[in-house]
Amino acid sequence: LVDAIAAQIGVALIQAEAYANLEDLNQQLAALDVTRSNLIAITGHELRTPLSTIQVCLESLSSEPDMPPELRQIMLQSALSDTERMRKLVQDFLTLSQLESGRVRWHLEALPLQECVDLALSSIRTRQNQSDLPEITAHVPPELPLVQTDGEWLVEVLSKLLDNACKFTDPNGRIMIQAHSNGGPMLEVTVADTGRGIEPNRLETVFDRFYQEEGALRRTAGGTGLGLAICRQIVTGLGGRIWAESAGKDQGSKFHFTVPIVRGKPDEKLPKNRTE
Ligand code: ADP
Repeated sequence: LVDAIAAQIGVALIQAEAYANLEDLNQQLAALDVTRSNLIAITGHELRTPLSTIQVCLESLSSEPDMPPELRQIMLQSALSDTERMRKLVQDFLTLSQLESGRVRWHLEALPLQECVDLALSSIRTRQNQSDLPEITAHVPPELPLVQTDGEWLVEVLSKLLDNACKFTDPNGRIMIQAHSNGGPMLEVTVADTGRGIEPNRLETVFDRFYQEEGALRRTAGGTGLGLAICRQIVTGLGGRIWAESAGKDQGSKFHFTVPIVRGKPDEKLPKNRTE
């Protein structure tokens, strides 16, 4: 009888645990659903603002054929820049969704970090007017070990961090890319600038989706507010971590991230579950 009771209790405990797990799963699904709804609501709001501007501009252009050429030019420029903002937003939104859904196939290979840094530097120099850019220097010691990473995605992280550093630093300021190894399994890469800095209580919030210090209505620097959320997804997916450092307002900012190095023969050291 004691055995039978013990067996019953065992079954009851297993069932209780299964229910608890199910409850847990339900809660996680509910939380995901809220996140998805929030994301859709925020994206809708973010798209509506530029869309309204474009509509107003096009309506004025079509209803006022005698509009002075200078004003016509301003209207066209405004519609074009808001179209570009919407394009970037949709692109970033799709990239973030792809990363968050875990559908990204990482193509890991052994690479010299310098190669990724060079690509990110030449990309920003072709995208932006040289005279508007602060001085950018890169110091990647040649003796550093190769990194085991997906080069295209790593260049994306570096480009986004460089874009931000340029946006929030005066053209007469400075931007430095540095990399070092402390002998462990990771390299640490830093993108530092002498720009406007970040308040200590915002160092983590800046990685939230759509976070922008200026708020949605006063975005002077452009951008989508998704760049750092994307960087965090990429760096984490590639096996590292990313964080921000700043002594505060006008004290410049540093964004650090880690990348796994190649140990042993590169092909034998592909991290498990990094490709799907
Ligand atoms: P975006 O740059 O498109 O606004 P991000 O996610 O890349 O979006 O950055 C979020 C916010 O973090 C920025 O709007 C800005 O307020 C802050 N931030 C990011 N990088 C820097 C930097 N280098 N210096 C100061 N603030 C920064």
